[in-house]
Amino acid sequence: MSSLPSEVDVAIVGAGAAGLGAARALANSSLSLIVLEARDRVGGRGHTIMASPDITFDVGCGWLHSADKNSFVPVAEALNFEIDKNRPPWRERGFDSVFPPEQRREFMRALDAFHERAEQAAKGGRDGPASACLEPGNRWNPMIDAISTYVNGSELDRVSILDMEAYEDTGLNWRVRQGYGALMAAYGALCPLALSTEVTLIDHSTSRIRIETSKGTLSARYVIVTVPTNLIADEAIRFHPPLPAKVDAARGLPLGLADKVTLALDRPEDLPMDGNLRGATMRTAMGAYHLRPFGQACIEGFFGGRFARELEDAGQGALAAQAIDEIAALLGSDYRRSLRPLAESRWARDPFARGSYSHALPLHAGARAVLAAPLDGRLFFAGEATSPNFFTTAHGAKDSGERAAREVMALLPTR
Ligand SMILES: Cc1cc2nc3c(=O)[nH]c(=O)nc-3n(C[C@H](O)[C@H](O)[C@H](O)COP(=O)(O)OP(=O)(O)OC[C@H]3O[C@@H](n4cnc5c(N)ncnc54)[C@H](O)[C@@H]3O)c2cc1C
Repeated sequence: MSSLPSEVDVAIVGAGAAGLGAARALANSSLSLIVLEARDRVGGRGHTIMASPDITFDVGCGWLHSADKNSFVPVAEALNFEIDKNRPPWRERGFDSVFPPEQRREFMRALDAFHERAEQAAKGGRDGPASACLEPGNRWNPMIDAISTYVNGSELDRVSILDMEAYEDTGLNWRVRQGYGALMAAYGALCPLALSTEVTLIDHSTSRIRIETSKGTLSARYVIVTVPTNLIADEAIRFHPPLPAKVDAARGLPLGLADKVTLALDRPEDLPMDGNLRGATMRTAMGAYHLRPFGQACIEGFFGGRFARELEDAGQGALAAQAIDEIAALLGSDYRRSLRPLAESRWARDPFARGSYSHALPLHAGARAVLAAPLDGRLFFAGEATSPNFFTTAHGAKDSGERAAREVMALLPTR
């Protein structure tokens, strides 16, 4: 790990996928670099832990979404990380006894029809809350809203139609057996890093940019800012002179909330490997469960939106308690005895994330381009929220970091 230099050519703020993408892209340039990271680890919202000696748990991102266009796939291959290419359990591999196939098909038809209406609205250039694309009175509306809480981290009433439709889903979702966070850590291993170094002020009033951190001050010619939108919106990092357009753009792109829990499972052989458990429940506030991911003896629960926020507010352990209640209600009370909480996330309470992934508020779809735009050829912005089509994702973040690196390199004199 590098200590804090007094001056560099490029300072990158944040060692998540975006910051690491920028650092790797600049590694072979002639520019001196440092990645300033508030946490004592790299990866940001990508973080793998061993929840028990034999259970790997991605506390943040887990899926290589749009895998055929995902730039972390070649990274995983080059670093010899095993990729699981089995289809995810969300659509087809439901648990029949609690969500019978005919009902599941009906739900999928309603979900597809909702997306069709949203696509038509977007083609007509009409923005507004995505909830306007729900069919009034459709019995599946609460569950369609639940899906939005998982995908956007927010209910549809706070999601822009145009933004939702700008996302590019190729339908292929893979996973990294050793964990997505572990992959990011390996990818970032050789980057020049200053860990436990929280940036508090970026003063761009002088010819060299002055950066105040918890470990001291340094100066840089260029700064690439990759922190989550909520930190810019809350002005947790201050700019001097202030950047009201960036703060406004970030406020239009708040991080929604998604939280995960993993529960150890006795008698795993009773449940299908990589199965999906969700009741045909007519409400939005409910978990989605991944049974025995990679065949491990555990169940992963996923909660989103306002419900996840309520569970975080209820305190540590509330996610696990809710998951056990729901699983026992769906599969039988015996499951209370066979499930044991191992780990859970609380991303809204994480001071350096303050949420899970960004969504545009209705009428704010244009904010991503505003946030991404470089300023005065000296300040550059990356991070998942600045991706035009892969926002919310880890590979979108990485690609955005590489884009910011290219913007910096384009300013250098050609030899
Ligand atoms: C529960 C959950 C599930 C997810 N599932 C998936 C998934 O399956 N697939 C997928 O592709 N994506 C998923 N994501 C989203 C994905 O993790 C993020 O989009 C991506 O990791 C964001 O990368 P980033 O570099 O933009 O931001 P971050 O990873 O947040 O990196 C920003 C970095 O800046 C640091 N920082 C913050 N403030 C300061 C400061 N003042 N000074 C210095 N450093 C600072 C932070 O500590 C952090 O390390 C999920 C996220 C969550 C939370």
